[in-house]
Amino acid sequence: MKIGFIGIGAMGQPMLANLLKHGHQIVAYDVVEPALAGAVKAGATRAASSAAAARDSELVVTILPSSSHVEAAYLGPGGVLEGIGAGRLCIDMSTIDPSVSRRVAEAVTKRGARFIDAPVSGGVPRATDGTLAIMVGGDARDFEEARPVLAAMGANIIHVGPVGAGEVAKLCNNLVAGVAAVAVSEAFRIAEGFGVDPKILTDVISKSSGNTWVMEHMHPVPGLVGKAPSSRDYAPGFTTDLMAKDLGLVVNAARELRVPVVVAPAAQQALRLASSHGFGRKDFSSIYMFLRASSRESPV
Ligand code: NAD
Repeated sequence: MKIGFIGIGAMGQPMLANLLKHGHQIVAYDVVEPALAGAVKAGATRAASSAAAARDSELVVTILPSSSHVEAAYLGPGGVLEGIGAGRLCIDMSTIDPSVSRRVAEAVTKRGARFIDAPVSGGVPRATDGTLAIMVGGDARDFEEARPVLAAMGANIIHVGPVGAGEVAKLCNNLVAGVAAVAVSEAFRIAEGFGVDPKILTDVISKSSGNTWVMEHMHPVPGLVGKAPSSRDYAPGFTTDLMAKDLGLVVNAARELRVPVVVAPAAQQALRLASSHGFGRKDFSSIYMFLRASSRESPV
């Protein structure tokens, strides 16, 4: 299939590589020249705009940082809407506000084309292996049509509901993961203060009710989990800034629905503070480095 691929960042680059590996032809576009050059080097054809990538392909895939970027890439000047042919399918794999997915879907539908949201989980390692979890919002027939393309990039592909529902599932997942990351870091800082060996505490928690995927795979204490970002100076992975963005999106969504949210805003603010102290482009498990105890001279 000839696929227009827009957004060749940390995730887009390996996802695009897997589509090429599965025999698809790629027409790529990114606003940043070195990112686009990377895609061309991998075997994609260069497009001059999102509109051109959409015009020259049978299906469009986008994976962009956040809501405003998706709106710009679809609805802005030179955007997908200007190039998309009637009946074509657009798959947005970014993590964004579900109401923006619905708004973009409406605009795409008005042009006679189709739109589904298909955000991903698993980070760069699983994007590279082609084993991402993909949660899809959209019409069931559009989901079935997209499935073979999604299967080139992911292993667990789940249809959640109508347009926007994939984003809702993704944001709920990241609420749990983001809060867990802060909680695990707090626990290990307290243990450290009491002189408890972090390896022994890891053994205890992993066999107890506090066990979590975040500790197993993204342990915040360096050296305990070889593949965790903490063991390579918190190189992302998934950045603190992106996790803070996702918690912000889920908190806003909850407020719109008048659902009380208590721990998600606290975790979001902890990550924001970490970001303003230089941890924004580090993996979000670096919140552990930020949560250092203050000096012994400080009053309790
Ligand atoms: P990134 O910043 O590395 O890449 C985004 C790319 O989009 C960049 O190359 C940027 O130049 C390009 N871009 C921005 N605006 C554009 C526009 N208008 N037109 C064309 N290109 C444009 O981000 P990423 O880490 O690849 O994340 C992408 C999305 O995937 C985000 O929504 C993120 O939350 C989600 N996600 C990321 C991870 C991860 O581990 N990095 C994991 C799961 C989900």
